[in-house]
Amino acid sequence: MARVLFDPNVYVRNDMPKCPICSTNADIYRRLRPPEIFEGWCEVCGDVSITPDAAERARRAGKGYLLSAALKQRPANQEYETIRQQDVERILKDAPDFTPLEKLDIALSVVASMSDRPGALSRFSHSQDYPLAYAASPDEALFYLRELAEKGYVHLEHVSAIVTMPGYERVEQMNKVGRQSRIAFVAMWFDPSRNPIYDEAIAPAIVEAAYQPLRIDKFEHVNRIDDEIIGQIKRSRFMVADFTGQRAGVYFEAGLMLGLNRNVIWMCDKKELPSVHFDTRQYNFIDYESTADAKARLFNRILAIEGEGPTDSKLENL
Ligand SMILES: [Zn+2]
Repeated sequence: MARVLFDPNVYVRNDMPKCPICSTNADIYRRLRPPEIFEGWCEVCGDVSITPDAAERARRAGKGYLLSAALKQRPANQEYETIRQQDVERILKDAPDFTPLEKLDIALSVVASMSDRPGALSRFSHSQDYPLAYAASPDEALFYLRELAEKGYVHLEHVSAIVTMPGYERVEQMNKVGRQSRIAFVAMWFDPSRNPIYDEAIAPAIVEAAYQPLRIDKFEHVNRIDDEIIGQIKRSRFMVADFTGQRAGVYFEAGLMLGLNRNVIWMCDKKELPSVHFDTRQYNFIDYESTADAKARLFNRILAIEGEGPTDSKLENL
């Protein structure tokens, strides 16, 4: 979408327009007519279109950076829709809760992915790109850069970073196998009553995030996982595990994926969540109330955890 241009017939403008999400000075204006949407472009968030109450909600939660991260990670070709209050609730609820060590790793991955070639200064700017490292502020992102330098993973030139060989080694270690795969393994109960959640929520959310869903629809495997399933799980980049129906196979498959050190996205119909096996309670479940709810939240979670799937041109360049 083209950048929003200021038009006095459409927008009101303050003297110093600021982004309603991150408070950076930005070319963002408020529409004259209700619902008085803020529209424009911000160097931290990218394209912004948000209702005043949604912006207020994110600011009040002190979690504007999660919204900035979600906006920044949107696929470039995605038509963007105005963010409303319920979208903010969903983004806040589904945002992964990373530890400082995980954020340090994420910061290194982002710095590396924004380096055009080994030895080059990364384009990562702590003042503009801090949400990509899930840092709440530029200062927090700068802290990660300094810590990465301390560990020898980057050289710092002022506040710009160059990834070192140990840094690239660390990135490779993190990515491991499966990262180049576009397959998302779906573990779930294969009862016909579950088809709508697969057809209308899980499969389309995975496809829209540019991955390929794989569901092995065969006999119920109780207490064992057959070789074909193990092979397919090993080929997959991440897993979507829906625990509704409490099938043993889903627990085994999710356990196998965790053992491979890859991401599992946990889902369950909200009504059944209390009966989910105790050991899985520590994970942040998408506890959906409808297929539409499941689809929207799964899509956001995939983008938050894995990013957009590899495009054909990216695969060719590998
Ligand atoms: Zn912003």
